[in-house]
Amino acid sequence: MYNTELNERIKLEDGKAKWGFRKSYGVNFAKIFYMLGSEELKKANEDGNLRVDTKTGETFVDSTEAKRYFLKSSRMDECSSCLAFKVDGAGSKKLSKAKFCRDRLCPLCQWRLSRRLAWETRKIIDKYEVDNSDMVAILMTLTVKNPKVGELANMLDILCHGKSGAWQLMQKWLARRKIKDFIRTVEVTFNSESQTWHPHLHILCFVPKEYFSKASKYYISRDILRDEWKRICSLDYDPIVDIRRCYNKGEKKERIKFGSNDIKKVELANAIKETAKYCVKPLGLFLKLSDDEENVTMKDIIRELDSALNGRRLRALGGEIKKIAKSLKFDDDEAKKDLIHNDDNGNVDAVWMEIYSYFGVEKDYYLIAREEIANEREQERTKEIDFNDTG
Ligand SMILES: [Zn+2]
Repeated sequence: MYNTELNERIKLEDGKAKWGFRKSYGVNFAKIFYMLGSEELKKANEDGNLRVDTKTGETFVDSTEAKRYFLKSSRMDECSSCLAFKVDGAGSKKLSKAKFCRDRLCPLCQWRLSRRLAWETRKIIDKYEVDNSDMVAILMTLTVKNPKVGELANMLDILCHGKSGAWQLMQKWLARRKIKDFIRTVEVTFNSESQTWHPHLHILCFVPKEYFSKASKYYISRDILRDEWKRICSLDYDPIVDIRRCYNKGEKKERIKFGSNDIKKVELANAIKETAKYCVKPLGLFLKLSDDEENVTMKDIIRELDSALNGRRLRALGGEIKKIAKSLKFDDDEAKKDLIHNDDNGNVDAVWMEIYSYFGVEKDYYLIAREEIANEREQERTKEIDFNDTG
């Protein structure tokens, strides 16, 4: 490895990926978490939460919350500060190494995660469709009235928690209609105009083709879905729900008769994106708030979102979908998801390894080192020879 002696600095260009832009917002989040940590420390000090260091006899302010925020802040600040790419002859890049913080509010990590999930979901569904050609995908969206600031955690508990959450009851209702294969995600957005949260569920699930026939007693119209969701959540208003049949682009028009004309359609690829889109869009949150809001509001919003999502499972798979994910070795635990690879072109014919570093002042990544990569196949051959020689 050698440092490139460059006359002009080379900025990271990776197609449409906005690495520098996302990273700069990650740094902003880190600052907010630092502020939250400082606040907690101040509070602990005022409350007299002091502890004595047994070795030195010194007293110090004790606050587990402050520690948690400071740790978050430093992890996020350091997230992806260095990126290594494999670059092929045409200059196209594939991320090869990076250290991610994996925080649910990190714009970089959430972007990588959603791309990974979209890729995994596509693989799962492709396999599912091969084995279950008689099944049709539908996308449901279930919402409730926007909870106010301060009420997000409570609403998320109502929506999906333990065995009595609304989703858990909905799942049973769907199972009675033989809908067992699903991907369910919880998404939370923030409406800055009304200053309210907007938590909602996306469910991509599969039904047999005959469900769409007029005679089917299982047919779910939007009205049926809305009434059931209203009953399950014990609402005194009509919630907004949506149900769409998914289709594959370019697929021959199938002769599926609709039981009712209230079923809309959505391209399967878009439905997949909808369920892989990660639960929060940290960047959107920041962009919406940073312009006209005081930092205090921003801090409160981030504190609430961070604590409401803490330890919560936001994505769940069911039935055959779950089995296929397992067979493809797609980890169930989002904390273990591979954020480096998110397509099938892992074996790029790389010529170079390039290392980029983030520069805070410029808010962008610049090349700091470049190394030639020996042809991998060549390497493999050499290895074989070596092995045979020693054997
Ligand atoms: Zn991160």
